[in-house]
Amino acid sequence: MRRGTITREDLNELIRRWTAERKVIAPVRRDVVELSPVGSADEIAMDYSNTQLPTKRHFFRPSEVLLRFDLRAAPDRHVVEAESDADPTVLFGVRPCEARSHTLLDRVFLREPYCDPYYQQRRANTAVVVLGCTSAGPTCFCTSVGGGPNDHAGADLFLTEIEHGREAHAAIYLLDVVTERGASLLTGFDLPEADAGLIEHASRAAAELAATLKTIADLERIRTAAQTAFDDPVWQAICLSCVGCAACAFLCPTCHCFDIQDEVSGGRGRRVRNWDACSFAHFTLHASGHNPRPERHQRCRQRILHKFTWFPENFGAAACVGCGRCIRACPMGNDIRRWLEAIGKKV
Ligand code: SF4
Ligand code: SF4
Repeated sequence: MRRGTITREDLNELIRRWTAERKVIAPVRRDVVELSPVGSADEIAMDYSNTQLPTKRHFFRPSEVLLRFDLRAAPDRHVVEAESDADPTVLFGVRPCEARSHTLLDRVFLREPYCDPYYQQRRANTAVVVLGCTSAGPTCFCTSVGGGPNDHAGADLFLTEIEHGREAHAAIYLLDVVTERGASLLTGFDLPEADAGLIEHASRAAAELAATLKTIADLERIRTAAQTAFDDPVWQAICLSCVGCAACAFLCPTCHCFDIQDEVSGGRGRRVRNWDACSFAHFTLHASGHNPRPERHQRCRQRILHKFTWFPENFGAAACVGCGRCIRACPMGNDIRRWLEAIGKKV
């Protein structure tokens, strides 16, 4: 892996080049910090904790038309595939937990033979530039689920601020070229090699920050909960304060349930995919009227076991990156860390 240093001024110049040839989506400070298309580096917030919304919506849209159909048209024109919106894009300045979540979603959406072409096209056309963390929020627990402030998973380029500078333009970053795609973003740019002292300084700072993050419950124990605590009253206890709004699922960077519906009028229509969530009673409601998860505690259990038992069994890692969004967003003050602690005691 090539490691260089770059000033904020040179970084701004790079971003200017990228915006000329592709879409650049980056953190922008409005009421909250959100990822938005930017026209220049001046719009980008580099001093933020995390965005309110996850980046999954860039690859997996909250609502998207998969195809349109017209049964009154000639048979060879009955179905028209939706046009691709997978424009060449740089997703700039996302946090390491976000980039890690892309690698988890890949395991679902890019798994042969069930590869999702809509997700795949956007993923293939998007380079991810990660901004390593220099501080952690009170709800962060990335190190408990395999990540960390310096985790390079899912990054094409990885930036670490090593000198803040009094003025924003005076900041200096360590720039790691993680993939070929990352290297191609630097074509024509002369990246000075980082000296060993700076690399050492950045690794030490990241390790010190990681050490401040508390380890949450023992996830190896939680993993066995489907066998050892499936019918335990703990699920009723933890879900007492859940109103089933699904804010946690919609804001989670790794939740990926969806529903597909045909919207038809007079023989014409469109097939639409929308985000859905296992927190909703209708999610598992069968056409027969039977619902295998009619009770809220069963739906809470499903969400937790999917993330910490079944996803690890099927895909080799927990479906959680410890971003803490579900904790910050829950209107009832629920905290997944406390839920996991309670479940761990019952295993
Ligand atoms: S955000 Fe809170 S109340 Fe809403 S479904 Fe999630 S845990 Fe329940
Ligand atoms: S479960 Fe909560 S902490 Fe884990 S990735 Fe989802 S939103 Fe973040």
